[in-house]
Amino acid sequence: MLADIKSQTAEELQAQFRLWQQPAYRLWQLLEWLYAHRSTSWDAMTNLPKALRGQLRTHYSLGALELLRKQGSRDTTQKFLWRLKDHSLIESVLIPASPSLYGEPSDRHTLCVSTQVGCAYGCRFCASGLEGFKRNLRVEEIVEQVLAVERWNAQESSRSQVESSKPDATQPATGNSQPATDHRLISNLVIMGMGEPLANYDNLLKALKILNAPWGAGIGARKITLSTSGLAPQIRKLADEPLQFRLAISLHGATDVVRDRIMPVNRKYPLRELVAACDYYQHKQGRMITFEYILIAGVNDGLEQAGPLAALARRLSAKVNLIPYNTVQGLPWERPSEQAQEAFLKALQKQKVTVTLRREKGHDIDAACGQLRLRTEREMVA
Ligand code: SF4
Repeated sequence: MLADIKSQTAEELQAQFRLWQQPAYRLWQLLEWLYAHRSTSWDAMTNLPKALRGQLRTHYSLGALELLRKQGSRDTTQKFLWRLKDHSLIESVLIPASPSLYGEPSDRHTLCVSTQVGCAYGCRFCASGLEGFKRNLRVEEIVEQVLAVERWNAQESSRSQVESSKPDATQPATGNSQPATDHRLISNLVIMGMGEPLANYDNLLKALKILNAPWGAGIGARKITLSTSGLAPQIRKLADEPLQFRLAISLHGATDVVRDRIMPVNRKYPLRELVAACDYYQHKQGRMITFEYILIAGVNDGLEQAGPLAALARRLSAKVNLIPYNTVQGLPWERPSEQAQEAFLKALQKQKVTVTLRREKGHDIDAACGQLRLRTEREMVA
């Protein structure tokens, strides 16, 4: 099988171009086609000599994700369901920085990307783990989630520009029909989609290197948040990386009793080990850690959890994100009442913790990770 060109760093491609005795500028032309124009065909790369395009074609594949389904409207949270070459399904979620509540479209967007097909970690409340683990995503499949969403956005923008430039007797012509092909839509990444990101460590780190590079998608490392359910050894490894990413811990319980009940990973890496790894991360990277805490009725929303959670947050100077649970079809867990959510929030605030309570954006579009995939797969076999 050929390596996909989008799994290669500029350094790797440079080595190949040297073997082919190509001048350095040819590489920059190629990278521009891949990451600025987001090309999906060798033939489109018209400023590369035909012979070089032939060499590239025989050495590398040039894949693109196939959009199977999309939910949500352009100004709000949108969920993309992609079909991979082996027919596996994965999801990405596009979140506007500030949804246009008052009709003003936001320009900055965050993309939540998947790193695995399914997940082996089996958190009891999560749709992604329900059907088990299939495989790790390859480097290019992680990179492509960003490029494919931007490609889709460019096509939509061109389409709406064509629509709006259709002669309208009631409006003056603007003459502005330039397609927005090179516009960078995605400014932030959260690695919180399907899968445990740090279980696919090498592919993810290589993909992030490509997405971070100025010749790639140019997304700043500080705008990239990696989340983990608590793989302590990989947190330590991440701490030693030169790129400074943000780290979010999917905590969801402040004691081993609660975490053991809903997150099997805690039996392997109990809180003591997880906290020690977070300490190390903070010491090496000097970056604030975030605790993601999904509030589940009767499981972890009791006020007796607020004390240990506040203690952990204070110890690591961590910020806490409270997320009311999104019900998943086939799972027994429920979202706490708004009163219970507020009480939990207040208990943390009282203990001087930096905390936010957010309504999950896109609650109505199967926003909990893995739900759209799960529903589509079930429909396909029905
Ligand atoms: S919450 Fe994350 S780690 Fe846990 S099963 Fe779901 S995808 Fe896997």
